[in-house]
Amino acid sequence: MMSETMTMEAAGIATCRLFVGGEWVDAAAERFGEVHNPSTGEVIARAPLCDAEDVDRVVQAAAKAFPEWADTPAVERARVMLRYIELLEKHCDELARILSREHGKTHAEAMASIRRGIEMVEFAAGVPSMLMGECIENIARNVDCETQRHPLGVCVGITPFNFPAMVPMWMYPIAIVCGNTFVLKPSEKVPLSAMRQAELLAEAGLPAGVFSIVHGGRECVDALLAHELVEAISFVGSTAIAKHIYATGTANGKRVQAAGGAKNHIFIMPDADIEQSVSALMGSAFGCAGERCMAGAIALPVGDAGDAVVKTLVDASRKMTVGRTDVEGSVDMGPLITREHLEHVRGCVERGVADGAELALDGRTATVADAPNGFFLGPTVFDRVTPTMTLATDEIFGPVLSVMRIDTLEEGIELTHRSPYGNGAVIYTRSGRAAREFKRRVSAGMVGINVGVPAPMAWFPFTGWCKSFFGDLHIQGREGVHFYTHQKMTMSRWFTPRDGKTDSWGI
Ligand code: NAD
Repeated sequence: MMSETMTMEAAGIATCRLFVGGEWVDAAAERFGEVHNPSTGEVIARAPLCDAEDVDRVVQAAAKAFPEWADTPAVERARVMLRYIELLEKHCDELARILSREHGKTHAEAMASIRRGIEMVEFAAGVPSMLMGECIENIARNVDCETQRHPLGVCVGITPFNFPAMVPMWMYPIAIVCGNTFVLKPSEKVPLSAMRQAELLAEAGLPAGVFSIVHGGRECVDALLAHELVEAISFVGSTAIAKHIYATGTANGKRVQAAGGAKNHIFIMPDADIEQSVSALMGSAFGCAGERCMAGAIALPVGDAGDAVVKTLVDASRKMTVGRTDVEGSVDMGPLITREHLEHVRGCVERGVADGAELALDGRTATVADAPNGFFLGPTVFDRVTPTMTLATDEIFGPVLSVMRIDTLEEGIELTHRSPYGNGAVIYTRSGRAAREFKRRVSAGMVGINVGVPAPMAWFPFTGWCKSFFGDLHIQGREGVHFYTHQKMTMSRWFTPRDGKTDSWGI
């Protein structure tokens, strides 16, 4: 990281600065959150926990930059994103290393998440064509009617710890090309890669104040929700906070899209290719150490598929390597985000055992020799989980997969309708009829058919249902463009000469 973004304290721990009006500045806040390297447990930086004073400074600067940016032609705004894509490609590996160090993703996972982020920027570079309005000429005699899309003003993004580069990129590229200015409040657990994104955006030629960063937790978020100059809020995080953001933001008159938690169901039909399905299932459940809102959390082998699925799954998962992601070398799975979260996930495993589920593979025994203080948990598999156990009902957000054996597809579909969440659901099958039935009737906003993780690409919305999303217009795709713009309808009437007379210039 460039030194400008951080202030070095005597103790050697760097403190993150705010990005305000194109300058890196120290926060006024005097409370700080610690940023860890989860592979070793070491503190690697501090993020200020900003309050209303810092928030006002950042939002005022973003509001000041808005009129000029909104007036900049859309194609010029889009060109900044084209230059940004080049810079992201050039610095992809560097950004991935920051992600692996502050978050614990493996290098491959970090690179893949940045690639998905780059796709968002590619989409945003094409947004001008989506700003086109509609027009009916002569809708009434001498009357033309048209619609146009206008930017909102200062938009805010509040993001979770699990995808520190990709999730902010779901938001700000679209918001900015639509002509808004954007304030990002990254998770206080992982602020570093967001700060690098701010530097690269500036290098791409984004004018001062169009993109800003403020750090903090609850107090900072509450000040953003209350600020009169904030027009719209995009949130991604847990369901409890998403609900709070939606309720408070909309009560304060702001436009809000708030994505929440999940508990995703993965069906394996008896006719599915077991090796392929289990391999995809493992990628879904244990990729990013299970810290994904689209992670497979409940595997539902149907009919007589159960024994083969559990045996293949446990045998293969046992061979997964768990280790540090902050050093060279390749491992299958990295650490969890914090010690507190590790303890939470271990607690979920203990509760599962106490509830009577069969612990087929216990990740609590995983150790990493060169990192005894890292936040590691190995892949964990429970068999014979029943619908009322907390393993089946609560989001765990770790590498814990619950197998729930069911007799029929119908029984499984019924379970998805009883789940409070509705992010993703997947089926593995060779039967077109089963796949079609599943697609039509399962209760989830994002459906996969023989696909590991059906997270939509940039051109499609991230369509969570139930308590996985609060709002109307989803994040990403065309809905993202609609979220970040007002629509204006103009009706105009120009009289044609009734008496055949024309004026001096012949009209
Ligand atoms: P979180 O809800 O704890 O935090 C998300 C953001 O909210 C952070 O920026 C945090 O600083 C802020 N925040 C935390 N507590 C707050 C409070 N009391 N008041 C106001 N703001 C607060 O989520 P997390 O632990 O960072 O991320 C994991 C969660 O995010 C999981 O539940 C996961 O399913 C969800 N997630 C959802 C999606 C999706 O698209 N639906 C994508 C990624 C992650």
